[in-house]
Amino acid sequence: MKFKVKSELCRGCGVCEAVCPNVYQMDNNHVAKVVTESVSDDLMECAIQGENVCPVRAIIHS
Ligand code: SF4
Repeated sequence: MKFKVKSELCRGCGVCEAVCPNVYQMDNNHVAKVVTESVSDDLMECAIQGENVCPVRAIIHS
């Protein structure tokens, strides 16, 4: 499964990174990025948790 941050929506709060740093990391402009090309099964739960905690729903998956 692939996760994506809609950078135009991201407010830079850092919550997704706090919940799942193996998938989400803040860049130098305080915008979250997905750091794994494809999220493996062992990271799936925290990736979805990070998606769900985003206050502006900027994270999507497909
Ligand atoms: S939780 Fe949402 S708004 Fe906050 S840094 Fe992550 S993607 Fe951006």
